Amino acid sequence: METTERAARKSFIVIINMIAWMILITATGLGTIHFHECPVQPKLPVYMTVIGATGLLSLLLMYLRNTLDDCPLARFCTAFILMLCVFIVCWFIAGTYWIYSIYPPNSDSTRTGNHFAELVAKCLQAQEMAYCPYSGFPVGAAILTTGGAIITGCNVENASYGLTVCAERTAIQRAVAEGYRRFTAIAVTCDIKDSFVGPCGACRQVLMEFGTEWDVYLTKPDGTYKKTSLRELLPLAFTPAHLQKI
Ligand SMILES: [Zn+2]
Repeated sequence: METTERAARKSFIVIINMIAWMILITATGLGTIHFHECPVQPKLPVYMTVIGATGLLSLLLMYLRNTLDDCPLARFCTAFILMLCVFIVCWFIAGTYWIYSIYPPNSDSTRTGNHFAELVAKCLQAQEMAYCPYSGFPVGAAILTTGGAIITGCNVENASYGLTVCAERTAIQRAVAEGYRRFTAIAVTCDIKDSFVGPCGACRQVLMEFGTEWDVYLTKPDGTYKKTSLRELLPLAFTPAHLQKI
C-alpha cells in the first residue's frame, strides 16, 4: 500500500514537473519571438523545436524511470536524463547568445523621434556621393536601426543600365553587411523640388524584407520632408511571413 502511495506521489510530482516545463518552454518561445520580432530568421523555429523536443524527451524518460524499480534500464534513464539536461542548458545558452547577437532587444524603438532630423540631414549628405553619370539623377538615403545607428546609401549606376542599384538598396546592403537587420525608419531624397518623391517599387519590396513598421521620410532638397510609412507605400505586401505559411 505504502509503495503504491509512494509511486502515485512520484507520478504526481513528475506530472507537475512536465506541466511546469511545458509552460516554461512555451513562455520562452513566445517571449523570444515577441521581444526579437524576427520574422526573417528561419532558424528560430529550429532552435525552439530542439529545446522543446529535448525537454519533452527528458520528461518522458523521467516518467518512465519513476515507474521502474531499481534496474539497469532505470539507471540508464537517469544517466540519459542528466545528459539531456546538460544538452538543454548548453543549447539554451548558445542559442540565446546567438539570438541576442543578431537581434538586440528592441528597447530603443522610441528613439526614432529623436533621430529623424539627423536622419534627414544624413540622406541629404549621402546624395552628394551618388554615382549617376547616365541619369544625372542623384538620390540619397539614410536608414535608422533599432539601436539608433544611421547607415547611408546613394544610387550607383552602371554602363549596363540594368545593374544600377538604388540609394535605398545600397543603404540596406551596407547595413546588413555591418550586422544590422532591424530598422525603424528611412529618409530618401532627390533633386525634385516641387513634390515629395518615394522609393521605387523594387526598393519598397526590399525594405519590406526587413520589417513592416518603417517610417519613411520623403525629403526635398531644402530639407523639408513628408512622413509616411512603408505600409502606406506598399499595401497588401508580400512579406517573408507569407513564405512561412506554406
Ligand atoms: Zn529603388
